[in-house]
Amino acid sequence: MTTKSAIITPKKGGKREMTELICPKCHKEGKGQGIRLECVGNIKVKGIIRCLQCQHERPFTMVSGYISALDIALPGAQSDRLDQLVPTDIKEDIREAERANYAQCYKSCVAMCRRALQLGLIDKKITDQPLSKMLSEAKDIELLTKDTYNLATSIKGYGDIGMHRKDILDPMDVNMVIHATVRMLNELFHSEK
Ligand SMILES: [Zn+2]
Repeated sequence: MTTKSAIITPKKGGKREMTELICPKCHKEGKGQGIRLECVGNIKVKGIIRCLQCQHERPFTMVSGYISALDIALPGAQSDRLDQLVPTDIKEDIREAERANYAQCYKSCVAMCRRALQLGLIDKKITDQPLSKMLSEAKDIELLTKDTYNLATSIKGYGDIGMHRKDILDPMDVNMVIHATVRMLNELFHSEK
């Protein structure tokens, strides 16, 4: 997924040259800065470009001097949907989870989601204790609705797989866990419950 306005299309073939890009998020806000990428040699480079002006991230692949793949954002990019009231360190955990997902480190990804959930509850003054107890407590004081509690319990379940067990995670499930965590955090922080 690319937009023409945010990307100067790299030339194919011929001599190697610098590829110039513009951060799509900064570009939208009219403060775009140019990014230059260079890849010398018969090599493949795969990574994530992070704009330090706006923290926007997107994956790219360069092969022998040319961009062969460039996305406008990390797959899923759920962290952009996080409510403004969600604390910065928790947002950073979700970004970390998305990077892990992109790198196909699925267990790390769900473990980060579980951590974000736990930090969110601590931030809402739930005592730091085994997560299942924290969830029950949050449900009892109606910080979590029954639906959100069920969602959180499933995030915890996947996080447990990531941390303790040898089970293999399905990438589709991992995307769902990120999605669910963002939804849960937004509900947790959006209104004064
Ligand atoms: Zn930017």
